[in-house]
Amino acid sequence: MREDQLAHYREKLVKLQSRVMAKAREAEERMADQPAMRDEISHVPTHPADRDTEGLASDMEVEANYEQTLEAIEAALARTDEGTYGRCADCGAGISTSRLDVLPFTLRCVACEEKQEQGSG
Ligand SMILES: [Zn+2]
Repeated sequence: MREDQLAHYREKLVKLQSRVMAKAREAEERMADQPAMRDEISHVPTHPADRDTEGLASDMEVEANYEQTLEAIEAALARTDEGTYGRCADCGAGISTSRLDVLPFTLRCVACEEKQEQGSG
């Protein structure tokens, strides 16, 4: 990946990280009022937000994924330092920028992500 692309996605990740952190705090406060909801969201879908260009939709599905998303963002940021960002963690192929635009914190290419979902599901 080119240096300017890397900088672009890194900036995106940093912004997303602070937004998700803020949202996660809000969600936590909301959930503190509704303890019964905790169990329902403990098993979470693996693709948090492929319908929203900023990687943040505003429904339950995404709230349930805040923790996972933050972990993925941190991992992706570490990969920008290592120089492995934009490469699939499983097969090493380059991840398309159209996919990274939607899911800047994704670690896998589409093919491997699908395999992962089938394997775990
Ligand atoms: Zn792959």
